[in-house]
Amino acid sequence: MTQTYPDYIWHNGEIKRWQEATVHVMAHGLHYGSSVFEGIRCYETQNGHAIFRLNDHNKRLFDSAKIYEMPIPYTLDQINAACHEVIKANGLGKAYLRPIAFRDLGGFGLSADCPTSVSVAAWNMGPYLGAGVLEAGIDACVSSWQRMAPNTIPTGAKAGGNYLSGQLIAREARRLGFGEGIALASTGLLSEGAGENLFLVFDGALHTTPISAALLNGITRNTIMTLAKDNGIEVIERDIPREFLYLCDELFMCGTAAEITPIRSVDGRQVGTGKPGPLTLKIQDLFFGLFNGKTPDKRNWLTPL
Ligand code: PMP
Repeated sequence: MTQTYPDYIWHNGEIKRWQEATVHVMAHGLHYGSSVFEGIRCYETQNGHAIFRLNDHNKRLFDSAKIYEMPIPYTLDQINAACHEVIKANGLGKAYLRPIAFRDLGGFGLSADCPTSVSVAAWNMGPYLGAGVLEAGIDACVSSWQRMAPNTIPTGAKAGGNYLSGQLIAREARRLGFGEGIALASTGLLSEGAGENLFLVFDGALHTTPISAALLNGITRNTIMTLAKDNGIEVIERDIPREFLYLCDELFMCGTAAEITPIRSVDGRQVGTGKPGPLTLKIQDLFFGLFNGKTPDKRNWLTPL
C-alpha cells in the first residue's frame, strides 16, 4: 500500500515542506529510542472542528520529557499553537496529530546532552484497528510478551523506546490472525493493549487496570472514567487476573487512535454475546457524543480549531 503524506509539517519552530523535515541518521533518538511523543485527534463537531484534550496531551508530552531529562525548547502554549498551525497549513479538519520531541544529532554517549528537536505532523487517520471495528469489534489475544517490570523502562512516559514492546505485541497478534494483542505485566496480572487501555464490564460496572499495572495513563481512559462517573456508572480500578478477560460480560479497548473498540473474543473464547454489549455502546455514545453535541463538554476538553 502506498502511503500519501500531507504537504507540510511543523519542525523546530516553522512550517516546512514534508520532504524538508528530515533528521540525520546519527541522531541520538534514532539509535537509542530517545524520543517522547503524543497522539491527538481533531474531530468534526457541530460547532466546527475542535482538538480533543490538546493541553492534556501536550502536558503529558512535557511530563514524558521530564522523566527522561529532555529539555523541550518551546513552551506548552507554543506546542499547542504548533498543533493548530500544522492542521491549518495542510488544509485539514478532522486529523490525527503527532507531536514528537527527540534527542537530535549531538553526541553518541548515552548521557550526551543532545539538542532536542520537536516536530508536529498531522494527517487523516480512520479507525486505527481497521475499518468497521468500532461497530463489529475485534478478536484479541494475550501476548506471549509481557510489559516492562516496575523501575525498568517507565511505562508512564510515552517514549519512542516503549513502543518496541508495543511492536512485539501487535506484530505477534497480527501474525497469529488477531486484531490486537493484550499484554500482561511482569506480575502476570493484566496490563493493557499494545497501544490501548482496557475496560472490562462485570454486572454493569466498569473495571480497569490500575496505573501501577505497567500501563500508559491514557487520556481516553481518563475521559471514559470521568464520563462514566458523570452518568452514574460505577468505575473500579483494580488488579485483574488474565482469566477475567474470558469471564467478563463485555470488554473494550480505548485510546486516541483506537477510540473505543469493542473486543468480541480473547484467545478464542467469546466475550459475552460476542457483540458489543450495552455498556460498551453507552460509553461509545457518551464519548462520540462529545463531538456530535449529545454529551455536554463540561470540562472544556474541546479546543476549536
Ligand atoms: N497505552 C498505550 C501503550 C498507548 O500507546 C496508548 C495510546 N497513546 C494508550 C494506552 C491510550 O492512551 P491515550 O488514550 O492517551 O491515547
